[in-house]
Amino acid sequence: MGNTEKVFTAGRFGARYGVGIRKRLLKIETKQQKYYNCPFCGFKKVRRKAAGLFKCRKCSATFAGGAYLPVTLSGSIVQKIVLQKEFVPGAKELLAARETTEEDEKAARRREHGREQRGRREHGRESGRHENPGHAAEQGAKQKENSDI
Ligand SMILES: [Zn+2]
Repeated sequence: MGNTEKVFTAGRFGARYGVGIRKRLLKIETKQQKYYNCPFCGFKKVRRKAAGLFKCRKCSATFAGGAYLPVTLSGSIVQKIVLQKEFVPGAKELLAARETTEEDEKAARRREHGREQRGRREHGRESGRHENPGHAAEQGAKQKENSDI
């Protein structure tokens, strides 16, 4: 019993559970038991250790992946998005600029207390846009001062 030449690992089930289910199982199980390329050392030595857990038998790197495959389609898409966010040039500056605009808007609200809400909002947005680069520069200067201390 076990592996057969015709139905491979599905042979362990004999004639049970139905042909369709056994074929579906085979489709995944053959991929699950394969060796995959290691993302760390490049050798084709990665094997599934448990559900979602893969280990390289060359460099013993252990990492998370799909339940049956080390890399899934949805997983690779998420990874791309995460990498993009990290390596966008000036991403940190953009995030910092957004924070300053919120502060600017708050300050503008305090200054223009008593005026109409609509006019205040529009003014806050416009001033925020114009003041962005200046404020970013100011923040950079402040950070420099802090690092000097
Ligand atoms: Zn490796």
